[in-house]
Amino acid sequence: MPELPEVEVVKKSLKKRINKLKFTNVSIINKKLRYEIDKRYIKKIIGRNINNIKRRSKNIIFNLDNGESIIFHLGMTGKLTIIDGKKKIIKTSFYYDQDKLDEKHDHVIFFMNRGVKLIYNDVRKFGYIKIIKTNNINQSNHFSKLGPEPFANSLNIEYFKKIKKKRQNIKIKDLLMDQKFIAGLGNIYVNEILFLSKINPKKKVRNLRKKDMVNIIKFSRSVLKKAIKFGGSSIKDFSSSDGKSGKFQLFFNVYGKHGKNCSRRGCRATIQRVKISNRSTFFCNLCQKY
Ligand SMILES: [Zn+2]
Repeated sequence: MPELPEVEVVKKSLKKRINKLKFTNVSIINKKLRYEIDKRYIKKIIGRNINNIKRRSKNIIFNLDNGESIIFHLGMTGKLTIIDGKKKIIKTSFYYDQDKLDEKHDHVIFFMNRGVKLIYNDVRKFGYIKIIKTNNINQSNHFSKLGPEPFANSLNIEYFKKIKKKRQNIKIKDLLMDQKFIAGLGNIYVNEILFLSKINPKKKVRNLRKKDMVNIIKFSRSVLKKAIKFGGSSIKDFSSSDGKSGKFQLFFNVYGKHGKNCSRRGCRATIQRVKISNRSTFFCNLCQKY
């Protein structure tokens, strides 16, 4: 499943390649994604230019020149592939082998000027494509309850303290996974952030000290920044439109490392795996404290 860094990398690739282009047509092969695509409504994008391409949480947003925006969510297996005017396949993300086109799962094809095509492919069809008025995005279902982005100034110690009072009895891991608290963190990065912050994932929010909160904010940013730089976490023969591979996985400290020695210098413990809220949780019992 793509997490924030993968989506950010996709966004960057798209912005580099298709920002400012115009939609000349759209072909819906299968309208049944997570939400059914309104075929008539989506035709409104024809003739419109892309003014900007942004990301909010795991959504990619194309702002069009008519005050509407296209929202893409990649769900579990969604991918966006660009075919340029010379029919060259351009990868936009890192978690699939996109050398071979998998036309069977192509659901929507956007035709653009300069002979460019943008293909939405999704094996499991948990992703979605929606058109929303740009001014209404923040109030829409998918956005209104999202917490601050990890890199936003509004994610700060005062905000954390306020939430701590309200959510005292849950585990810190569950809080970090909650998109209403921070938008965009997923299981991989939450495991890594807690390891770097030396906090046991089962620690109750009420027991967090100021230092813990400072560390969580700090390491959320550093870990995501590093992952974006390396092109995302979920490598599988993956390279971006810049040809860089997603090598971040090689830098994981705890995720998927159960049974291995703890990577912290001087620690002799073994990384453990437990389930918290049904998600695999990896941690070092010695380094990560309650
Ligand atoms: Zn350790």
